[in-house]
Amino acid sequence: MNEASQTIERIDLRGVKVYPFTGPDHLIDFADEHKGILVAVNAEKIMNANELTLPILNNNIAYCDGSGAVLAARQKGATQAVKIAGCELWLKIIERYHDTKTFYIIGAKTEVHDETIRRLLQRWPDIKIVGHRDGYIKDDTERQALIDDVADKRPDVVFVAMGSPKQELLMADMLKRHRAIYQGLGGSFDVFTDTVKRAPKWWIDHNIEFAYRLIKQPKRITRNFKFIKYAWWLLWHKF
Ligand code: UDP
Repeated sequence: MNEASQTIERIDLRGVKVYPFTGPDHLIDFADEHKGILVAVNAEKIMNANELTLPILNNNIAYCDGSGAVLAARQKGATQAVKIAGCELWLKIIERYHDTKTFYIIGAKTEVHDETIRRLLQRWPDIKIVGHRDGYIKDDTERQALIDDVADKRPDVVFVAMGSPKQELLMADMLKRHRAIYQGLGGSFDVFTDTVKRAPKWWIDHNIEFAYRLIKQPKRITRNFKFIKYAWWLLWHKF
């Protein structure tokens, strides 16, 4: 029995139930065995959880993609839990399966999307992309056509980079028609194509990537005020 076959007890973080994976390989093994939607959880998603997002988080494979979520999970006994960055995870999934599984790739603006596909093919010439399209879906007819196409092509892995909760709602509808590994990627294609810069490694390594984004995008300050409350929960063991 590999690590993934073992039952993994989820940790409840104020209603958000996360799997305390011990690393990306642990997560990928689990996702391959169980299929479903990989959903990144950070402090902001825990703070903003509501009746629309909770079912999405709790009916799928939620993992800690943020130091705040990891600290809370560890506080609740999951001492082995680590942060898994969604914007790196999808590349690890491709690295592992590019020559054995099929992929469907959705999301971002047309230019960013096309550049993503170009770079993927450049890095993994043998990657099997059975379908792809940008993330700007005009109406229900187009949305339905996409869901039909995914069900028809039956990819093993589907990446959707459209931001939350739009991407999760789309993946949930796709999953009803076709079982696969789905991952929501937010703005990862913008980072992958160098359209948007991620924080330098030092900031990432010291778990303060959020502070870098704050300096670069000061408008995010109102989003960050909420974290004072989150820090208070952490400090006083309120999880
Ligand atoms: N996007 C999309 N379709 C939409 C709206 C957004 O494909 O209808 C893309 C957008 O171009 C960007 C990403 O989704 O690449 C959203 O990035 P953001 O950083 O806002 O998402 P987050 O990571 O915060 O969820």
